[in-house]
Amino acid sequence: MTGTVHDFAIVGAGMAGASIAAELAAHARVCVLEAEDAPGYHSTGRSAAFWEECYGGPGVVPLTLPSGRFLRERGFLNGRGALYVGRGEDRATMDAFMRSFEGTGVTIERLGREGLEARVPHMRADWVDAIWEPACADIDVAGLHQHYLKKLRAAGVDLACRARVANLTREDGIWRIGCEDGREFLAANLVNAAGAWADTVAHMAGAQRLGIDPKRRTVAQLRVSPAAPDDLPLTLDINGGFYFKSDNGRLWLSPHDEVPSEPCDAAPEEMDVALAIDRFEKVTEWRIEAVEHRWAGLRSFAPDRLPVYGPDPLVPGFLWFAGQGGFGIQTAPAAARLGAQIMLGLKADAMTADIDASAYSPERFHAGEKARTG
Ligand SMILES: Cc1cc2nc3c(=O)[nH]c(=O)nc-3n(C[C@H](O)[C@H](O)[C@H](O)COP(=O)(O)OP(=O)(O)OC[C@H]3O[C@@H](n4cnc5c(N)ncnc54)[C@H](O)[C@@H]3O)c2cc1C
Repeated sequence: MTGTVHDFAIVGAGMAGASIAAELAAHARVCVLEAEDAPGYHSTGRSAAFWEECYGGPGVVPLTLPSGRFLRERGFLNGRGALYVGRGEDRATMDAFMRSFEGTGVTIERLGREGLEARVPHMRADWVDAIWEPACADIDVAGLHQHYLKKLRAAGVDLACRARVANLTREDGIWRIGCEDGREFLAANLVNAAGAWADTVAHMAGAQRLGIDPKRRTVAQLRVSPAAPDDLPLTLDINGGFYFKSDNGRLWLSPHDEVPSEPCDAAPEEMDVALAIDRFEKVTEWRIEAVEHRWAGLRSFAPDRLPVYGPDPLVPGFLWFAGQGGFGIQTAPAAARLGAQIMLGLKADAMTADIDASAYSPERFHAGEKARTG
């Protein structure tokens, strides 16, 4: 075998690939292979850009909270607040939501109609119950992605774009990584940060697919009357039927859709935009003047909806950094630090000390199976 043998080759340069590469590069020789012309074209470039303490459920909170401290200290967050809203019949669901976050460290507070009205104008009268999460903030997603790309470049990482990984073989403990255009890379370890393509890459490497399924999520930008106030909280249906937030006088609205999809360049469907608008009109009295823009992206979930970080227990040198679902931006700093510590065998530090890494290990999908050697 000839050519540079990297310690780690990372497939994908979205938020996951860029952040784990930047963390690994401080200790190892790293290359990043990205299929598209530029990093960030898929899910990372299509997010709704919020950091929300409860998003993804209690199992994600240990990653979100330390990431929040990192993001706040570096100026990537801009405060907004979030409000989960419900109707009278949703009382039990609201109670259960409050209970499920007890002891997790998130700060949430129950409000009634008055508190709701004070924060979100024009809500229809049947929306009477609310849970307020003051710490929720907008994330500068492009800024954070650039932070990691800059860091990895400064550390001498080879970042190759238009490098779609098409075949993977392993000989004498080294991966031979073939790209569609004929380029070849060598590495001792392969990190699967391929987002919606995580199971495709695993299959290529001879690893078992874990059932990391891409699901389409749609967002529409609306011009509404009166204009959406800048300080509007992120407003989420407690039953997962919609969320909206303001952006420069416009509203970003999602029907909270999770439509199963093949890994692809996702595009919004008219039906999902119409569904979002229909739901929105049942919730608020805002008048929609125009749908100015719409987009869709894929959120990819493991079967238990928790992310997957660490070595595949059956295929040596194959490492997972996938399944970031709808929280891959807001958890990126702590996830990347933790992922690198696992992959390099380093101890936890202040950012990761309170995280139980076993909750995110791929081993949870392989109970009772035996590792291959080689
Ligand atoms: C509409 C929407 C709203 C969202 N809102 C939020 C939010 O508010 N907050 C939040 O935290 N998260 C949010 N998310 C989720 C977040 O965007 C994702 O969790 C995150 O972007 C995942 O990053 P990633 O790097 O794993 O995936 P991606 O950004 O998709 O990157 C994967 C990369 O792998 C590359 N790749 C795949 N196969 C190959 C191959 N064979 N060879 C080389 N490269 C390959 C792809 O080209 C791609 O660039 C949202 C997602 C969507 C769709």
